[in-house]
Amino acid sequence: MAALKFSGPVLPDGQSRDLYVVDGTVTYEPQAGADTVARGWILPGLVDAHNHLGLEDHGAVDESEIEAQALADRDAGALLLRDCGSPADTRWVEQREDLPRLVRAGRHVARTKRYIRNYAHEVEPADLAPYLAREARGSDGWVKVVGDWISRDAGDLAPSFPAEAFAEAIAAAQAEGAKVTAHCFGRDVLQGLLDAGIDCIEHGTGLSLDQLDQMAARGVALVPTVMQTAKFPTFAEQGREKFPAYAATMEDLFARRREVLMSAHEAGVPMYVGSDGGGAQRHGWLAGEVQAMVELGLPAADVVAAASWRGRDWLGFDGLAEGASADLVVYDRDPVADPTALWEPVCVVLRGRVVGAAPA
Ligand SMILES: [Zn+2]
Repeated sequence: MAALKFSGPVLPDGQSRDLYVVDGTVTYEPQAGADTVARGWILPGLVDAHNHLGLEDHGAVDESEIEAQALADRDAGALLLRDCGSPADTRWVEQREDLPRLVRAGRHVARTKRYIRNYAHEVEPADLAPYLAREARGSDGWVKVVGDWISRDAGDLAPSFPAEAFAEAIAAAQAEGAKVTAHCFGRDVLQGLLDAGIDCIEHGTGLSLDQLDQMAARGVALVPTVMQTAKFPTFAEQGREKFPAYAATMEDLFARRREVLMSAHEAGVPMYVGSDGGGAQRHGWLAGEVQAMVELGLPAADVVAAASWRGRDWLGFDGLAEGASADLVVYDRDPVADPTALWEPVCVVLRGRVVGAAPA
């Protein structure tokens, strides 16, 4: 196969170079006779750090729909998906050269009747540890627990399990070699999870300044999913009549979500970019999450880095070093200067193959 040539600023350093693809990998050694495929800003393949492949509003979807979801993400430049819980078996996706790379978390584990129907394994506290350990053995190194959800008895958002049950389950999953993350909207669940050594928090709207400092010191990641948390006023409205305390909590969390986000950045918490595709959002919307994070006030340089090379590094994948797999996206303008560029990739290359939007 002839070598492919891409020219332009290669991120993160932004130095203009000719990047060649030979046998699926990146090289900067000039290749005679290479075809120039695209010119522009060249980024390591984007990372959707909170994605649910195989999930939609009513639960698991079939293989043709999973394929369509994966293609929507891929065509939008998301070449590495961190699955954040899915009831569908998506292991076959990892055998497909034309579909994004996937880091699966298995199926979410939630408290009985305290999550969206058909999404999670729903268990009582005594079963949390064995279930999470089992998901850990079948996953790609991550598992997901639903940290808090509305309690109809309390009429408010409340931790799904007692702190001791979370701690036992986190230890059990980590003993299997997996990292643990949790869905957390509210405040009450957080300290127990952090003290138990959790590895990442999803959403995290209830985090306090002290907790953000604790996360920064220990390298605990945050995936704030701001397109999702923008929906809190809608959740409040839907619950107001039957659950006024819940509605007030969601409004309060919404009111302080920008402050939490900016404080997390200031504290140095490692943050990543998650669209919640398949959960609260459709697939193929990673650019929307980047834009929403920038609109809330985060520096575009940090958000774009998190959505590309920093996210890849976090999950153990290369950027565009000599010899790395050629997973890259080309844009006609600098996405750090103008994140709207991310909506329109000029060219998408996965495992060395042009899979999207190459010029005629
Ligand atoms: Zn989600």
